[in-house]
Amino acid sequence: MVRIRKLDPGPRLADYTAVSHLQAAAAALQSEAEATVSALQGGTVWMLNSTAAGGGVAELLPTQIALLCDLGVDARWIVLETELPEFFVFTKQLHNLIHGGAEPHPTARDRELYERVSRENCAALQSMIKPDDILIVHDPQPLAVGSMLVQEGFRGTTIWRCHIGLDEETEHTRAAWDFLQPYTKPYQRAVFSLADYVPEFLRDRATIIHPTIDPLSHKNRDLSLHKQVGILCDSGLAVGHWPVLDPPFEHRAQRLQADGSFGPATEPDDIGLLARPIITQVSRWDRLKGFGPLLEAFARLKLNRGQWKVVDERHGRRVDLARLVLAGPAVDSIQDDPEALSVLAEIRAQYLSLDESVQRDVAVIALPMQSRKENAIMVNALQRCSDIVVQNSLREGFGLTVAEAMWKRVPILGSARAAGVRLQVRDGIDGRLAEDPEDTTSVARLVHDMLSDSDRLDEWGRNAQLRVHAEFLVFSGLKQWLQLLSEVATTGNRDGTGNEQSRAR
Ligand code: UDP
Repeated sequence: MVRIRKLDPGPRLADYTAVSHLQAAAAALQSEAEATVSALQGGTVWMLNSTAAGGGVAELLPTQIALLCDLGVDARWIVLETELPEFFVFTKQLHNLIHGGAEPHPTARDRELYERVSRENCAALQSMIKPDDILIVHDPQPLAVGSMLVQEGFRGTTIWRCHIGLDEETEHTRAAWDFLQPYTKPYQRAVFSLADYVPEFLRDRATIIHPTIDPLSHKNRDLSLHKQVGILCDSGLAVGHWPVLDPPFEHRAQRLQADGSFGPATEPDDIGLLARPIITQVSRWDRLKGFGPLLEAFARLKLNRGQWKVVDERHGRRVDLARLVLAGPAVDSIQDDPEALSVLAEIRAQYLSLDESVQRDVAVIALPMQSRKENAIMVNALQRCSDIVVQNSLREGFGLTVAEAMWKRVPILGSARAAGVRLQVRDGIDGRLAEDPEDTTSVARLVHDMLSDSDRLDEWGRNAQLRVHAEFLVFSGLKQWLQLLSEVATTGNRDGTGNEQSRAR
């Protein structure tokens, strides 16, 4: 049943206006909001998604909703709930199909399950939502809740925000869209992250809004050197030789060991996060994230050390000292996700089969998820310790991890095959793009080349931060949302047949 989520106290508008390099953007947002607030005439904006934690959408929503509230919009967050775990197995399958994965195509039974859960959630939502409110539904999982609400007589505006997509049509994407299309019909607008993701039947109703990151969230806020060291020590990611201010976190990071178990992250040795060249990928354990090929590429980099030309001694030393960090959610937090478990099992097998000399330089890290804050600051510190952040995805809706690292002035090695990564990273300006993330020799060569010139790495990092500042901070996305809300608030109401009519309240 849908449940209202309380927002954890996070940064407020005043916190952004107090930061010199964020002030102008926050002020521009305030003036944009005046028109929207008056157009909304007190109506509530409801954001419905399917998970309160984990993944990019749950990462973005709290900040956006809190800022909308500060700007004077009555915005609320609700989350779809069900006691039927098979619902999420099916919607994960749909998710993978939309990304072109070869999953079984939806059956009549799947539709029955999907509609059953949607109907229950719709009934709960009906008791909360007012007739003239605006409902924004995120991703396919709760899509039918919105369409059922309209069928039940809701005459406010419904907007579908789809965060995923593929820039080509395949039999698998078609199967997913055929399944979803009927539920999209009652929606007045659809919002996608990239123009390439919009299916033909939604083209006339689509708006493009890129996802964005929050520069003051625990994931992205500045960390002084002392804080970074403190976080790494408290989370068990580094050995502390000094007393630190805070006690160790209750749940600490773990590292895959040579016997296949997860043990302390500083065993068999300190990873070297504070001193070595570090190459990092942080993602969910999802096959499409390309962890496997990245690990193989890193092994090639190390094993080809003698054969590939180094430009100078420091280059060679950088390659020698470099370590790969592959980080994702801890095993206990993915117990209900069979795909994540099997991807992690594959990475484990691959790690165990590595040459011992390479294994030593790879840290497969499990990050505890019990505390969202601690998880976020661990990711923050890991990204800040990195010389290169990799996103080797085969497909990527957007790839928040890329913007997060770019904001921290870390150059990116991205995959050109993933449209979301390609959108963010300009090859040779913010880092490098690998044509094919599964061509492990080319990926290894790119890493090798990136490590050759530290001035160029610095330059890419600076460019990357500027790009995020201009395009991918929360202010740019919210500005577009405010404009869309103004537009639908004045034109988007429905008459008794569900058709749009001009709003007069
Ligand atoms: N993330 C995290 N802890 C993890 C793995 C991932 O906090 O152990 C975060 C990551 O920093 C990013 C989000 O989860 O903010 C993933 O978003 P992205 O768009 O990169 O991929 P998605 O998971 O939505 O496919």
